[in-house]
Amino acid sequence: MFIRNFVIIAHIDHGKSTLADRFLEITGTIEQRKMHAQYLDQLELERERGITIKMAPVRMYCKSSRGSTLIEADSRELLYEELTYKIRGVLFKVYNSLGPEHKESIYQNSLNFELEKTGLAFEREKRIDVIYGSKKMGLYQPDFVIENKVILEIKALPFLGESSKKQTRYYLRGSNYRLAILANFGASNLEIERIIYDSIRDNPRVDPQKSAGSEYILNLIDTPGHSDFSYEVSRALAAVEGAILLVDATQGIQAQTLANFRTAKAVGLKIIGAVNKIDLNPPNVDKLISEVADLIGCSTGEIYKVSGKTGAGVRELLEAVIEKIPLPSHRYSHSQSSRALIFDSFYDDHKGVVASVRVFDGQFTTSDVVRLLAAGVETKTKEIGYFTPELKPAKELSEGEIGYIATGVKNPEKIRIGDTLVTNKHKLLNTNVTNNVSEIRGGLVNISDLALPGYKEPQPVVFVSFYPEDADNYEFLKRGLQRLKLNDSALSFEPDQQKVLGRGFKVGFLGRLHFEVTAERLKRELNIRTIQSFPSVAYRLKTKNGIKTIIKPEELPTAYEEIFEQTAKIEILTPSKYLSNILAIQKKFRLEEIKTETVGERIKISAVVPIAELVSDFDDQLKSISQGFASFSYKLSDYRRADVVKVEFLVAGEPVPGLNRFLPRETFQQEARKIVEKLKELLPRQQFAQAIQAKADGRIIAREDIRALRKDVTGYLYGGDRTRKMKLWQKQKRGKEKLKTQTRVRIPAEIFKELLKK
Ligand code: GDP
Ligand code: MG
Repeated sequence: MFIRNFVIIAHIDHGKSTLADRFLEITGTIEQRKMHAQYLDQLELERERGITIKMAPVRMYCKSSRGSTLIEADSRELLYEELTYKIRGVLFKVYNSLGPEHKESIYQNSLNFELEKTGLAFEREKRIDVIYGSKKMGLYQPDFVIENKVILEIKALPFLGESSKKQTRYYLRGSNYRLAILANFGASNLEIERIIYDSIRDNPRVDPQKSAGSEYILNLIDTPGHSDFSYEVSRALAAVEGAILLVDATQGIQAQTLANFRTAKAVGLKIIGAVNKIDLNPPNVDKLISEVADLIGCSTGEIYKVSGKTGAGVRELLEAVIEKIPLPSHRYSHSQSSRALIFDSFYDDHKGVVASVRVFDGQFTTSDVVRLLAAGVETKTKEIGYFTPELKPAKELSEGEIGYIATGVKNPEKIRIGDTLVTNKHKLLNTNVTNNVSEIRGGLVNISDLALPGYKEPQPVVFVSFYPEDADNYEFLKRGLQRLKLNDSALSFEPDQQKVLGRGFKVGFLGRLHFEVTAERLKRELNIRTIQSFPSVAYRLKTKNGIKTIIKPEELPTAYEEIFEQTAKIEILTPSKYLSNILAIQKKFRLEEIKTETVGERIKISAVVPIAELVSDFDDQLKSISQGFASFSYKLSDYRRADVVKVEFLVAGEPVPGLNRFLPRETFQQEARKIVEKLKELLPRQQFAQAIQAKADGRIIAREDIRALRKDVTGYLYGGDRTRKMKLWQKQKRGKEKLKTQTRVRIPAEIFKELLKK
């Protein structure tokens, strides 16, 4: 069977997951009764929010037919069973009437005669190129090819020897056919040998494009569209050969369309363009099609019109995947050892630490001893298989395939995304990690020669500290974070300590959505209650002792020479009529070096923006001033000089740990005032009065008061026992003191998002 590995990439909400649903249906991967919308979005949070957070690989089976129906997945198990019976019938008929005494050609002619009667389509002495490696090695003319599926080879020998079988196997190996029937008429019994050959096993580089009717393994990876998750996309891209670039016809090309297209192109993928949601009859589809064709650099005829909702045009698109996306290739130089790239990982309750892999060389089987190159760990694999999208065990994973390997590794930190898995058939002995040299059966091999390129680690831009509400849960939180990281390699964390809150972790995120989603997952999937600090970005300080990076406002020393903040290069894509609205918020978000450029019907605005602004509600405001039509993508850029002030917030006279912030000096007074007002509005009212204050440069710059929520504890005591009342009031007072200490740590995390708004 031949393999196609591909991804669907698009701007968020352009319909990737819905299109994937239709592919799953057409190929019979998911039974109809189990099907539900956005099937591959399996996280609870994904379903709830309607967005994809994780890439999701799935294997589908189908048969290329150029327009006719694709076969159902399950028929793959019974490889041409019915056809085999028909052919056997014909063989026996001829043998029974002729016996074993004749020349080969007599059997051939008789078979020809009988085959014609069956009505089966067949070709006699069809010329088939035998391909080995990627070269044509010669020509083969089997006696018959039946229904363009089965090779029938006739012998008239005293017995069927190993060499005849080998020869037939070799023919299969060099062609696109998977089944050969070898029949020997020369012996006292008719000998029939059925030889099945999975061409992917040895020779994935045969070009099958010429033969319709071939069967395919289609490995699809659905990807997230939000720019916070572009690391997920780039990892998926390294595992495939092609991409469907999907554009919502009602939205047109958006920022993430461009960004994803560029990444896919840089990786060298074959890109197939498709315009989606045509069921909505969007205007100007033809114009959009020519824009997409321009972008990809193809003709408009090569852009597919589809609807993921109704399924229109989806079969054709799947056929295009088969026809246009190349076979799994050796993107990297060939290796003697079997090698696989770890492009993702996760934790499974039964299987432990599991790696999602793309095999680039050789094959992997269960119980192989494998080595994780970068981690320097050797392990025996527990299980191997592929995604349906559930985990389906298989005997082996071969060159070009995508699947999973349950590693048997206990420590999740040992599984690194981008690491290379190598089988130990050439045993790596005495690995000297420091010298990057490994001994292989007496010879030395450089590990870096064996390692696949892997990935550049993404840089976190938003930092939040998490402290367990109950200090005893520190280890629990640590394990929870480790487990999340296994499934979200962009997550980074290190131990952190805070006076009031105790031990916790400082966690780095790729953006605000990444933070929100992770906090939510921590809460739900791991059931850990935590207290969080306010999301913050990194600053660089120039001090007498050199350059220092700080993240928390508490870390700002009283004396330093200069402070720098991280910036990003941002690209906004918008229909031209919203340009002036966007330029109007330029100052508020400190956009600089603004350049505009026309891209088709749209305007592309490039600018430099401080990361601190990007993680505020920039995205929401951009959406609202452009009625949802403007979109942006960004790339980290350099650190630039900043002028910021550390502002502390106090509730009831107590500094609230985690609420401190850096604010631009130019606007810190106004902003602090707004934050205090918001806090007043958002903080739950307590049974005692609270002052909310902002403090900067040693003085209070803003204040609001929340009135107490008075509960009359003496209400049920009627009559005049003043002393009892006094006692209760005393008790209430003590209770309030206790409450006060608790408020210090009780800033609900949901408030942060509100406080980030400008
Ligand atoms: P993704 O973010 O790219 O994965 O997009 P989804 O597949 O989650 O789809 C986003 C929204 O668009 C959902 O509400 C879908 O129901 C809707 N959608 C997807 N494809 C189509 C389509 O072909 N036609 C229409 N009318 N809506 C669609
Ligand atoms: Mg999706």
